Amino acid sequence: MSGILSICYLIASVTFILGLKMLSSPLTARRGNLIAAAGMIIAIFGTIFLYEDAGKKLGNYPWIFSAIVIGIIIGTLTAKKVKMTAMPELVSFFNGMGGACASLISIVEFDYLFRAYRLLASGNFSDMVSFGHFLAIMAGTIIGSISFAGSMIAWGKLNGKIKDIEFKGQHLFNLIIFALVLTGAVITYNTNVRGVNIPFFLTLALALSYGVLFVLPIGGADMPVVISLLNSFTGVAAACGGFLYNNKAMLTGGILVGAAGTLLTVLMCRAMNRSLRNVLIGSFGSVAKAGASVRREKETYKEISLSDAAMVMAYAKKVLIVPGYGLAVAQAQHTCHELEKVLEEKGVQVKYAIHPVAGRMPGHMNVLLAEADVSYEKLLEMDDANEEFKTTDAVLILGANDVVNPAAKNDPSSPIYGMPVLDVELAKTIIVNKRSMNPGYAGIENELFFHPKTYMLFGDAKKVLQNLLLELKNV
Ligand code: NDP
Repeated sequence: MSGILSICYLIASVTFILGLKMLSSPLTARRGNLIAAAGMIIAIFGTIFLYEDAGKKLGNYPWIFSAIVIGIIIGTLTAKKVKMTAMPELVSFFNGMGGACASLISIVEFDYLFRAYRLLASGNFSDMVSFGHFLAIMAGTIIGSISFAGSMIAWGKLNGKIKDIEFKGQHLFNLIIFALVLTGAVITYNTNVRGVNIPFFLTLALALSYGVLFVLPIGGADMPVVISLLNSFTGVAAACGGFLYNNKAMLTGGILVGAAGTLLTVLMCRAMNRSLRNVLIGSFGSVAKAGASVRREKETYKEISLSDAAMVMAYAKKVLIVPGYGLAVAQAQHTCHELEKVLEEKGVQVKYAIHPVAGRMPGHMNVLLAEADVSYEKLLEMDDANEEFKTTDAVLILGANDVVNPAAKNDPSSPIYGMPVLDVELAKTIIVNKRSMNPGYAGIENELFFHPKTYMLFGDAKKVLQNLLLELKNV
């Protein structure tokens, strides 16, 4: 039986690796997800029916299957109902649940040892439990709890229920709490087995507090990096569970999630030209800086009518569309694809410039445009798009703001300074569609809107695109 179970875990591990590889391209991502999910199902059912400990099977089937059915119902309904724009929140929430599970596994293992040894022995916990075993328990508990609490705060921030909270000396305070977490772990290991539950649960409470405190001051625009970091924490915590139960699928899965999350965190920081330390203590994208709007008060922006905008695009040789969060909110991706087809019928070359953090999750714009059947070949990554702007006649910005803000290049005092952005101002004409002059996610002014080449086309992206289509028919 254990041989067959090992094969199940091996199959699961291979599917995780294959799935992860396939997720790197939009063409294979859906299939990759299904393959990894199939591997997970094999691992779960293999464990339920084939796992044996001293000849005893797992049992508890009514509990296990009730939990599985409840989980499937809640998970399916939530995933079906969630709007594309709320996806990062959902990812954060699910990541938090993963962290909680990993932590609970370690807590249950601790409780099992505590109950077993407190009746039999009277020495310190370190006399009964090997250091490696204790390390796996404690690391799983601490890292999983930090990931759970931090992800819940990130979830609240992304859906606007929790605001940034900052106070003087906050980072030092957080460091002290973290030091107390580590001290709690050391004390737990060196406490008499009869009373070891007290320092253990105090350490758990401190780790939960640290998770909350560490995410609270971080600005909203940095949430994707934080979620990715917390995701890697969940992976490491799950891998600790794999060590505890000698479960190879959990170990491989955890290590893959941990490594993938860490790599994504590093890549996102690089994409913003910032260090992880700067992201974690920089408070980028928290509250709008007071002086910014005052600076622009006297400057004016130009508006463009729908018919003029249609004319500019119809007579252009090349148009680059820059989609952003507003396009997702307006659900205008299908109308945008219509516009692309009409322009192409008029002999205009149309492509899309995709910024890696446009929208509210990595790959948000790719997913959105794929949903509207926009060809992948038309999607240019940031570096390629920046090469093409200088030969572009018109740029149509649809609900994007921060990702086209030149302050990232020109204004060292800007909170987004150093973040690579789309060089739209290299094009001949820039048309910006949004509903007002309100700032984007980072809460800062955008000098692009006052650029001599820029024309504002106000309105909801979907309505504006529908009207542009009507106008184009008359050109
Ligand atoms: P922004 O959030 O900077 O700007 C979006 C703009 O869309 C707003 O200025 C808004 O202006 C406009 N808008 C909103 N609704 C509509 C609508 N219905 N029709 C037309 N326009 C609309 O978006 P970007 O995509 O440029 O940048 C993404 C930002 O989000 C970055 O700061 C990024 O760091 C952050 N972020 C990214 C994540 C990711 O992983 N991709 C995750 C979380 C945050 P108005 O109100 O005037 O219409």
